[in-house]
Amino acid sequence: MMNDRLQRIIRPQTLAASAYQVHDAGDRIKLDAMENPYPVPAALRAELASLLSAAPLNRYPDPQARRLKARIRASFGLAADQPLLLGNGSDELIQIIAQAVAGPDVTLLAPEPGFAMYRLIAAATGSRYAGVDLNAADFSLDIDAMLAAIERERPAVVFLAWPNNPTGNRFDLNAVRRVIEAAPGIVVIDEAYHAFAGNSCVDLLAEYAHLIVLRTLSKLGLAGLRIGFMAAAGDWIEQFDKQRLPYNLGTLNQLAADAILARHELLDEQVAAILAERERLHTALQALSGVQVWPSDANFLLFRVTDADRVYAGLLERGVLIKKLHGSHALLDNCLRVTVGTPEENDAFLEALRTSL
Ligand code: PMP
Repeated sequence: MMNDRLQRIIRPQTLAASAYQVHDAGDRIKLDAMENPYPVPAALRAELASLLSAAPLNRYPDPQARRLKARIRASFGLAADQPLLLGNGSDELIQIIAQAVAGPDVTLLAPEPGFAMYRLIAAATGSRYAGVDLNAADFSLDIDAMLAAIERERPAVVFLAWPNNPTGNRFDLNAVRRVIEAAPGIVVIDEAYHAFAGNSCVDLLAEYAHLIVLRTLSKLGLAGLRIGFMAAAGDWIEQFDKQRLPYNLGTLNQLAADAILARHELLDEQVAAILAERERLHTALQALSGVQVWPSDANFLLFRVTDADRVYAGLLERGVLIKKLHGSHALLDNCLRVTVGTPEENDAFLEALRTSL
């Protein structure tokens, strides 16, 4: 029987897992996924159209994405010889790292609440996963608990999202250094929200040979292109590159990212608008009674209400989709997360929130 065969040949971890669920926003205002709310700048669209229409789609893409790597180094102020690996989103880079170390006795470790993919990818690749709770009040690293868990678990990989998703804060740099210094394997600093935070751990690469920095173009306004990058010492990049499928980034994606990053200043203007709106939203949420909002170094805000299920449903009814975190982790009781949108979208969210509280 078909089902017996399926049970017999699909791995137990896969049978036990569920596919990652993404809510369909329909025609609602979409503030659930940390996307940049602004489209590709108008000044670039004609150029993009002609570039893409002339692309040699009969040929495979450049497997090394050399041109795009050079553009990324220039756009993000990296050294001209900085070794890089590009992924189909930084999700793919997390998967590549996990695949390269995977094994039943291997542990991947991350603070929690954190980015769900670390745990999901650890399970999918057949490794163990250890989550270490953050401090409840401000979501800072519980450094004693982290160091004890590192000592106990001897993790091959420690993931630190900096700023952290879904809490929005950056962990104290001294605590981050202590984790890096205690880790027996590699430490991955995931800087997906770097554009909204300012400083970076890239400079620490020169100091720590077992540090890996991940970035993505997704939050910068190019989520549809699915491009992330890893910066690390060349010997690590060489190993991870063996795990990468040869043509993981399509020609159109490489071309479009190169052309858009060449006009990086246009994206910077969008980031500035998002930062201004983040402050306005934060102030507005702080002023609402029954709402507790945390500071954010990212393009989203975490907040707590008295009944997250009711507020989430009320927002949906009023045409606004955000992310419900309530139920995903004990520290996120009655918490919701809203991505910073355009001023109009944020106004609509605030209006819907006021009537849903
Ligand atoms: N890291 C973190 C911390 C994230 O929040 C996300 C997206 N939510 C990613 C990585 C993945 O981003 P992408 O695959 O789009 O590059």
